[in-house]
Amino acid sequence: MNIDKIGTAKWAALRKDLERRKQSDFDWENGKVALYNYKVDEGLDLAIREAYQIYFGENALGRRAFPSIAQLEDEVIDFGLDLFNCPDGGAGIFTSGGTESIIIAVKAARAWARANKPDVKNPMIVAPETAHPSFNKAAYLLDMTVVRVPMRDDFRAAVDAMRSALTPDTVMLVGSAPSYSHGVFDDIEGLADLAQQYELWCHVDACLGGFLAPFARKLGYEIPPFDFAVPGVTSLSADLHKYGYAPKGASLSLYRTEEFKDCAKFTFNEWPRGVYTTYTLSGTRPGGAVAGAWAALRYLGDDGYVAAAKTVMETRDALVAGIEAIPALRVHRPYDLGVFIFGSTDDQVDINAVMECMRERGWFVGSTAKPIAIHYSVNPIHAQSVDAYLSDLESSVDEVRRTNRKAAFDDDTYS
Ligand SMILES: *Cc1c(COP(=O)(O)O)cnc(C)c1O
Repeated sequence: MNIDKIGTAKWAALRKDLERRKQSDFDWENGKVALYNYKVDEGLDLAIREAYQIYFGENALGRRAFPSIAQLEDEVIDFGLDLFNCPDGGAGIFTSGGTESIIIAVKAARAWARANKPDVKNPMIVAPETAHPSFNKAAYLLDMTVVRVPMRDDFRAAVDAMRSALTPDTVMLVGSAPSYSHGVFDDIEGLADLAQQYELWCHVDACLGGFLAPFARKLGYEIPPFDFAVPGVTSLSADLHKYGYAPKGASLSLYRTEEFKDCAKFTFNEWPRGVYTTYTLSGTRPGGAVAGAWAALRYLGDDGYVAAAKTVMETRDALVAGIEAIPALRVHRPYDLGVFIFGSTDDQVDINAVMECMRERGWFVGSTAKPIAIHYSVNPIHAQSVDAYLSDLESSVDEVRRTNRKAAFDDDTYS
């Protein structure tokens, strides 16, 4: 046996092992997971896998060694700046995900405040309570404070209450477009206006919907202004690895000007190796993630994203109609894009028990704590499983009612 054969046999066994392990997971490729995964079709899937593989060994830290990656990255950033209506002079950073895009935007806001607001002692962020946890992760790392202001009854940011929460230490305002918890847009115009009045950094978290909203708007869905077209928006995060359909490890942190982006820069020269500069938290970064994101953007193009948005919105509407046809269930309103939540109107039907029954039937569904509800984040792959989902949902509701089942868990964590 030569070495290739030994290697091949070894890998065949390991591969089998991986495939066996995977069988204990929920079957996302057949639409059985209501979050985490975003896929359009087999054609795009093949393209992004191959693009990733072509740059599998390259390190995106090495912009001079691998100028082609630097160029791919710049093209992806330019696509984002254009999509989000950034005026000339904007700039961006390719990151590993929404959390990193947000942490470095918060870091940039802190650096900007240090330079421009010397009286600030304990820099503070004012955010709606619906803002993503990564703002608190950022504040924890950067020794800042987040004040979370209760949402309104329609789940949107309470801009007036946020105004009341401002203090001389406030440096940053945050809004979601849309929020992960309820899928609604905050009043970004109101927040950006407030930011301008008080000279604050205004960040729009479009991680979830950034690559869906502009295309849903082209289809005629009403999408409120949320990007750099709104004066006063300083920075915006948008995840390529969500509705951009890129392989995981891809997001954009975008800035209205080069100067704002420079606030995110880390540069260091006090080691023997010379100047070291990054804009990301990571040093070494996968070239494949950059190539995969670039391939998704180019493969789909505007038309492909519009078609994918149509599938998402129609699938959402089919799910909502089917859920509302089941007695005891109610979809909460408003919902603005691909995420919606639904709860129970019947004391005999514990919605968390319904969630458990769905998991027993092979469906991984998430939940929301406020209000207590099931959470659905629609992606194109769900189009094929609408009927099966609704039928299992109906039988889950029946089972819960019949057995008067109550949920056993009280802590649905997501990681
Ligand atoms: C997903 C998400 C994030 C965080 O993104 P990760 O890629 O999971 O790090 C931030 N904000 C919103 C609204 C999101 O949906």
